Amino acid sequence: MKIAFIGLGRMGWHMAAHLSRHGHVLVVCDAAPGVAQKWAAEFGGVAAANVAEAVSGCEVVCSSLPADPELRAVWDAGFAVLDAGAVWIDHSTTSAEIARVLAAQAIASGKSFIDAPVSGGTVGAEKGNLAVMAGGDERGWAIAEKVVSAYAARATLIGGPGAGQLTKMANQICVAGVGQALAEGLSFAENAGLDPEKVLEVMLKGSSTSWMMENRSQTMIAAKYDFGFSTTLMRKDLALVLDEARRADASLPVTALVAQLLSDVSKMGGASWDWCSLMERQRKLLKK
Ligand code: NAD
Repeated sequence: MKIAFIGLGRMGWHMAAHLSRHGHVLVVCDAAPGVAQKWAAEFGGVAAANVAEAVSGCEVVCSSLPADPELRAVWDAGFAVLDAGAVWIDHSTTSAEIARVLAAQAIASGKSFIDAPVSGGTVGAEKGNLAVMAGGDERGWAIAEKVVSAYAARATLIGGPGAGQLTKMANQICVAGVGQALAEGLSFAENAGLDPEKVLEVMLKGSSTSWMMENRSQTMIAAKYDFGFSTTLMRKDLALVLDEARRADASLPVTALVAQLLSDVSKMGGASWDWCSLMERQRKLLKK
């Protein structure tokens, strides 16, 4: 299948690579100079000069972009030249509203737009075992499901347009508090003079274990944050969640608190660090 992939960042780079390994013909595009060329040099395929050139003639378009404004810009640049019956699979984490708007536009012209945000981090993207939560129409999903199987351990159509983004919001609500709790637990142990490695060894087998503990505790102990899911992107996700919660009059006190704590991390210079750098905020406050 001929697939355009737009946005070769921390996630998209690996996802596009899996598609290529699965035998698809890739046309790639990224706004950052030289990135598409570098990807094509490593994995084959074609580096397109712009979005319109990338999507024209493709049966499927995948995008992995920072947020709503970038998705809107890319959609506006590509929609007019989309092939008849094309399916656009968006893996960005965005508002549910933009997913509904783009899906309506797609359906009206016999195409499909599937909102398909992912969970599992850059490790999941690299290993090809992401969780994909989707919203959209059945015809589009029948095609999209086969495509995303190249990098998904689990891919589920939750409901109509926007349902994937709402599910991702539920995911982020669940993980936000866990990240801060992990930062509090590890910094507390450190401050008490305990060996964090020994503490972790036992906690990983106890009731406090989690994806965050398994995948982030070592880097939190080592204060290494130059990887993963940036504080800026996590703040974007929580802002989307809190907007949606305001509309639904839903109470999310822990999520709101973690959003504020992450703004402290940004002020400390951690905007581009992985968001588990909440640990540094704790360290700063607990320092003896
Ligand atoms: P990233 O910033 O590393 O990558 C985004 C890419 O999009 C960049 O390479 C950028 O140059 C490109 N881009 C931006 N505007 C563009 C445009 N107009 N045209 C073409 N390319 C453009 O971000 P990421 O970490 O890969 O995340 C991508 C999406 O996936 C985000 O919505 C994020 O919330 C979500 N996500 C990320 C993770 C993670 O661990 N990094 C995990 C789950 C979900």
